[in-house]
Amino acid sequence: MSEWASFIAVFWLLWAADGLRIARRRSFTVVGWRRARAWFARLSLPGALPVSWRVTAEDVPVSMAPQGLCNRGTGEAGRPGEAPPVARAWAWDEVREAVVADGWLMINGVRFCPDTGHLGAAELLAIARAAPAAREARVRQMMRRWLLPAHLRRRRRVLIGRTRAVVVMNGASLAGLSALSVYVVADAAAQVPERVGGMVVTALPWVLLALAGLHFSAVIAAWRATRRLRPVGPEKRGLNLFTALLMPPQALKLRALVGEGFFPAQHPLAVLLAFETGAARREAAFHTLADLRWPVGGAGDPPLAREIVAWYRGALRAEIESRLRAAGLDPEELLAAPKADGPASCAYCPRCGDQFVAGRRVCPQGVELQALAPR
Ligand SMILES: [Zn+2]
Repeated sequence: MSEWASFIAVFWLLWAADGLRIARRRSFTVVGWRRARAWFARLSLPGALPVSWRVTAEDVPVSMAPQGLCNRGTGEAGRPGEAPPVARAWAWDEVREAVVADGWLMINGVRFCPDTGHLGAAELLAIARAAPAAREARVRQMMRRWLLPAHLRRRRRVLIGRTRAVVVMNGASLAGLSALSVYVVADAAAQVPERVGGMVVTALPWVLLALAGLHFSAVIAAWRATRRLRPVGPEKRGLNLFTALLMPPQALKLRALVGEGFFPAQHPLAVLLAFETGAARREAAFHTLADLRWPVGGAGDPPLAREIVAWYRGALRAEIESRLRAAGLDPEELLAAPKADGPASCAYCPRCGDQFVAGRRVCPQGVELQALAPR
């Protein structure tokens, strides 16, 4: 029976690792059922239970302005932030060609920024070819789209509604497989009374048949759900479902699988405002605002890049502050000076929140320190 025990161990290992994604950059993963939790890392895993859905969000890797676009983002919600190795800016009139290749957005044949899904090549060319007077409106429209939380919630509702049957079948399979695993382990340890063992052996073919039936029905139901839930980007779920069909341990988190690519790329703050209700949304709101107000890096960028980032920063800040207010978060309160955490502290960095004793004017990142609130 020990080979059965190792077979089961491998099965559950494959199940635990199912849906693991390693992103090129750190990104936010929001996983939920009733309540969502969020984290910022390169690793992303869907929740263990079949009811879980998952949304991932990367920071927007570009800044746009009526003048042009730059691969230095601003208003980043994630810490540590990621700066481009080489800051590059294009005036709209210079953009002749844009394509997505090997995970990169290429402009005029040169790597511009990672393809995070925020900006498509076609959309970019449409702005470049628009009349100069029409560009500002298009840029603002795109920026607003990255920040809309309402349609994310609607998509989650639709995903949950269309995958109810899948979740019920996955839940039944998970319960059956767990019971079977407990039985095998107990049997290997000679903990099962003979009478119970005999009953299980008689029922086993039927149990296995029922589990196989549940497996095939769940994958078919998930496949049908993908027909009705069109992805935003390229469709990759068909292949994943086929793999799941052949590898049953990878067919127990089908709701998360069906939801892959169904949520459009947005600003992480929009995703957190839509789904997260705890500390993570406050933290992301603070980081985003602090990055807009006290940016680091970019001093050596070309003049056009600095001009674009400055315009975009101003426009984004107004938009984000109004979104935060709509969500019941006060920007001024989020950025308010903290109280000293000790008698020696006399200044703090408004960006990272660290407190310093007398004698320092700037934090290690070069942000000018500010006075603490009175104790
Ligand atoms: Zn700092």
